[in-house]
Amino acid sequence: MKFPVINKQHLLFSIILGIVGLLINCYPIQFFANVQFVLGNTATVIAAVLMGPWYALLTAMFASTGLMINWDSPHVYLFFGLEALFLGFARRRDIYALYADAIYWLVIGVPLVYLYVTFIMDIPSSHLGFIIAKQGVNGLVYTSLASLLILAIPKLWFFKDKVKDRQRRMLSSQLTYFFTLMVTLTLLFSALIFNYYFLERQQTMLKQNINDAVSHLATSAQNYISSHKTVIANAANQLTIAADDPLQWQAILTNLHKSYPGFISMLIANPQAQIIAASPQSRLLSQNKAHSVNIKDRDYFIESFYNHRLFVSSVFQGRGFGDDYIIAMSAPFYTDEQKGTTAGVIEGSLDLNHFSHIDQHGEYTSDEYVVMVDEQNQIIYASEKLGLSSLAPFDFVVNDGVYRTSLELLNIEKPNSIVPEYIYAHQTLDNGWTVYILKEFSPLLKLAEEQMFNSFLMLLISIVCTFYISKKLSALLTVPLEAVASQFSPSSLDSNKSSSIDENSPKEVFSLYQRLVATKQQLIDHQIELEDMVAKRTEELEKANRKLKELVDRDPLTGLYNRRYAERKFTDLLDFCLRSDQNITVALLDLDLFKRINDNYGHLAGDECLRIFAQLLQKYFKRDIDIIARYGGEEFLLILPLTNDLHIEHHLNSFREALAVFDIISPEDQKSFNVTVSIGAISASAKYADELDKWIKIADDNLYQAKQHGRNKTIIHIINE
Ligand code: GH3
Ligand code: MG
Ligand code: MG
Repeated sequence: MKFPVINKQHLLFSIILGIVGLLINCYPIQFFANVQFVLGNTATVIAAVLMGPWYALLTAMFASTGLMINWDSPHVYLFFGLEALFLGFARRRDIYALYADAIYWLVIGVPLVYLYVTFIMDIPSSHLGFIIAKQGVNGLVYTSLASLLILAIPKLWFFKDKVKDRQRRMLSSQLTYFFTLMVTLTLLFSALIFNYYFLERQQTMLKQNINDAVSHLATSAQNYISSHKTVIANAANQLTIAADDPLQWQAILTNLHKSYPGFISMLIANPQAQIIAASPQSRLLSQNKAHSVNIKDRDYFIESFYNHRLFVSSVFQGRGFGDDYIIAMSAPFYTDEQKGTTAGVIEGSLDLNHFSHIDQHGEYTSDEYVVMVDEQNQIIYASEKLGLSSLAPFDFVVNDGVYRTSLELLNIEKPNSIVPEYIYAHQTLDNGWTVYILKEFSPLLKLAEEQMFNSFLMLLISIVCTFYISKKLSALLTVPLEAVASQFSPSSLDSNKSSSIDENSPKEVFSLYQRLVATKQQLIDHQIELEDMVAKRTEELEKANRKLKELVDRDPLTGLYNRRYAERKFTDLLDFCLRSDQNITVALLDLDLFKRINDNYGHLAGDECLRIFAQLLQKYFKRDIDIIARYGGEEFLLILPLTNDLHIEHHLNSFREALAVFDIISPEDQKSFNVTVSIGAISASAKYADELDKWIKIADDNLYQAKQHGRNKTIIHIINE
């Protein structure tokens, strides 16, 4: 296995990104209730896009630590580590980060969050959909943000050794992607801001309402108590006047009770704490032991009789006159108006059910509840639905945990749950009682969730629409361009493809197309012209070449072959004669006293003489196979294959004799002169010798002999084995 090389710069950068992510993640954006937006993961996405999966994983581990500090749940390492790897590998496959992240959350993230939330976290299942959707949308937010940052920051765009696209991207997909990015981000932020303010307002209104309700409740409770207190006080005054006639007391009490049905029962006791009068009277009468009921141990009697107070008791369960939860209000009355001697105590038991009337007839909505406690925190009254029993202490836990809201929250049923149960407001009355209004928290949460869920849905629809529209939009540009390109590609022979460049094509593309067509025609014309020219030149060149080749082998003055050609050709001729076992004659011819001709008639006459000599040679030795060459100066070489021993000497001599009588006219002075030639030759079978030099040696020797013996002679060696 090949281990990847660690790029130190990438390592450093991914750690720096990770630390930045960590710091940002330490302060997640509190949105509403327990909804937080994570932005630090932007760093992870940047790392994935620039440096691939493994560096991104490193960054993600750092960034997730910020969330770990905040949420204290190690799952973040799993969710966001996997996300980093997924984005990194997708990047290597040229998949855009936003699409990859959407796929990740759909296919991996959401099921993981689902499992996590259902099995590990204490969150009501009704919140599940919302929490999962939020996590996915959050992913889209930081992915878009990261992609735009990379685009916008040149340092990132031109990041050294960054992961490169494997294939060149299509303009249409680039356009689509950037449009989608922009729309995603703008829509998301506006949706979030809108939701934020909407919910903020909702909460302010809620708070206002609940505060109003509690102060209304407090006022009416206060009035209820103080008006009944006044009733007792007034009754005491009335009884003071009638103190000397206890027989009237029952009538006074009955009348009073009729006017104030807020009391469940009323009684009057004498200084011995015996009940003298009671209302409803039936209660007293039904209990034969009326006078035996002694109330001297009751707080209300003691407080009023001994301490001379207008007394309001705490809540207690009545005895003697039924077992209702009551509050006793009592006051002493006196034998005279100087209040010297106490004549008795009047008591009224206040009906606490009155508060249920307020509760039921009040303007509280179905999810609003009332709790009233006395100064000892005993429940005087609690709305039925709360299931709290009277006189029990009112136990609740203020919830100021992770749910961010300006509302005051408390829990009753599940004191330790992080999910708040009620929004509340409370007010303490003058007598030390406290009234609470509770409002269920879940409808607000539900509203918030629905609100955000809807925006998420709208967002997704908008993204899909944007995706579709921008694809169409970019196609407006790219399809004609593509058509133009394919028109001019060498493989396109199909001319009807131009149909995609029609009147709907953008003007620019159409003019580009027209210009390209014109250019293409020009190119074709030019090409044809070039081809013609090249053909012509090639022909000329070939001609010149042939000429040159000829020239190389020819002597320019006489037009005969030169010595080099003769030497080259000799072997061919020799082979030919060897095969047919034929003779070859090699002859050297040297003009006699040629120096003198030059001297006497001029150099031009010499040249003319050489030309005429050559012509005469060609006339006498005219077989195609014969080679006549100028050997040098005024020396000539004849190579004559297939010669006949019997005739060759005669033929050479007839040429020599013809030359001797040939009149040559000097071109300068038109003087006529003659020239003779000496010939040395050898005629032998081709087998005689391989090399031309050996033949020439004999011919040259014979030529020398011919000169020696007076010139104008032929000496030939005929060799027959
Ligand atoms: P011999 O009979 O012994 O051969 O006497 P020769 O004068 O022919 O011999 P020599 O070798 O002394 O002279 C050859 C002369 O041929 C010398 C040179 O000026 C002349 N010559 C060689 N090539 C050319 C040529 O192309 N044109 C002319 N006009 N003269 C040439
Ligand atoms: Mg010579
Ligand atoms: Mg000569």
